[in-house]
Amino acid sequence: MNILSDRINNLSESATLEMSRKSRELKALGHDVINLSIGEPDFDTPEIVKEAGIAAINNNQTHYTPVSGIADLRQAISDKFKNENGLDYSPAQIVVSNGAKQSIANAFLCLINPGDEVLVPAPYWVSYPEMVKLAEGIVVEIPTTIARDFKVTPEQIESAITPKTKAIIFSSPCNPTGSVYSVRELEAIAKVIAAHPNIFVISDEIYEYINYNGKHESIAQFDFIEDRVITINGVSKGYAMTGWRIGYMAASPVVASACNTLQGQTTSGPCSISQQASLKAVRELSHDSSEIKVMLNAFEERKHLVLDRLADIPGIEANNPSGAFYVFPYIQHYIGLSDGETKIGSDSDLCLYLLDKAHVAAVPGSAFGSPGYLRISYATSSENLIEAMNRIKGALAKLS
Ligand code: PMP
Ligand code: GLU
Repeated sequence: MNILSDRINNLSESATLEMSRKSRELKALGHDVINLSIGEPDFDTPEIVKEAGIAAINNNQTHYTPVSGIADLRQAISDKFKNENGLDYSPAQIVVSNGAKQSIANAFLCLINPGDEVLVPAPYWVSYPEMVKLAEGIVVEIPTTIARDFKVTPEQIESAITPKTKAIIFSSPCNPTGSVYSVRELEAIAKVIAAHPNIFVISDEIYEYINYNGKHESIAQFDFIEDRVITINGVSKGYAMTGWRIGYMAASPVVASACNTLQGQTTSGPCSISQQASLKAVRELSHDSSEIKVMLNAFEERKHLVLDRLADIPGIEANNPSGAFYVFPYIQHYIGLSDGETKIGSDSDLCLYLLDKAHVAAVPGSAFGSPGYLRISYATSSENLIEAMNRIKGALAKLS
């Protein structure tokens, strides 16, 4: 008897969460594991935001909220889009969810019919293809390489489009590569989309504030496609609020209303306390607030620390990310080698070897659609990073 549905039987565990689980399990056995697999800021949520959460409890703001989020928060998000991104989204076009993860899942479930194709430039964030599968869509991967800074070209998109293409999804700044699309690159992509009126763009901008290039650019700024862009963002990364579980989307009224209906039948509105805390964050903190800059500067310093050490390891080629908190080095050189005991047959084997022998957790590139690479999250202390990079160097040196 099949207990579980095909839907869940066909779904993979999130590789990022899986590596973190493995690293936690090893830690519980008493090993000194350094976890570079999970992408979450190690900073505490800013004080004013925590106080707003505590005040929400004391003020009994602990009841159900409107499904798409409290009016003040949607207004604050609408103002943020206007002031920081130059985008005109009314509060009615915004749906607040339990993390950007739910916002993306909502978007796919509302747009995709069985058999519809979704273009997913690789490397991609692990959950995109699985969410497309949940919505019974078909994933069409578009490969990119380190030589082109992992960016998809307009020509590649054009040639991947078929009559069944319903959407394209990408993140900028990108998880796992840290690449950031320039305004000109986004415009060129927007022009391709403009010529195909049935295609939607899901633009995942969750790493907006972690951008070493300066100004963040949104693809929704091009008015010739703006009603077909679904802009995803949230409080997890920029404000160090991963556990509060608040993300949001902005879309055309038709799509926003559909997501509201879906959410009303699945989760209802997100946590009332988290919404009050997020209201404080979105209203009072922006990319140039000192609370945000401290984190950005620390991330940039750590990025250089990791890049300097990677440059010192033979056979590794690393990109220089412009945003997010990941480096995505090419490690193919080590595939096929052995330490005399363990044969490294793939990037996944290399991650297991590093976890086992060096007690450092990273995520294999194959989980992001790019075998031969490794994702290192540098959202941890410099001290941890120095120790982790020394251990990685030592373990790799044993392979021949
Ligand atoms: N998109 C990307 C690219 C991410 O890395 C994450 C991090 N988990 C998310 C979306 C979801 O973030 P959250 O659900 O915490 O808002
Ligand atoms: N986005 C983070 C990551 O990629 C968090 C883990 C997850 O939600 O997959 O590691």
